[in-house]
Amino acid sequence: MTILQPPVRHWHCPSCKGRIAYTGGPAVPDASEVPLHPCPKLGLTVPYVEVSGPDEDSDAIHKILTTDERQSVSTEHGDGSNDVTVYPGIAWRMPR
Ligand SMILES: [Zn+2]
Repeated sequence: MTILQPPVRHWHCPSCKGRIAYTGGPAVPDASEVPLHPCPKLGLTVPYVEVSGPDEDSDAIHKILTTDERQSVSTEHGDGSNDVTVYPGIAWRMPR
């Protein structure tokens, strides 16, 4: 009997260069399966970017977008695609 091992997936933060690796999940994650982390460089909880190996860097960048209504982080990938994480205004707005 052969026991199949789940693949190890590697994730990288393009802002702080932090890394994690874990097993499990589908080969192609949807947006709800992208792990987040409290990024020490940005001061926000931002998504990791999946990379092919433990020493690989992503070609993505995080861009912070702020309006009067909300704050968001756009993860801009090297292929021109992007993913946006939106934060409720109450989570970041300073008291007046
Ligand atoms: Zn980070």
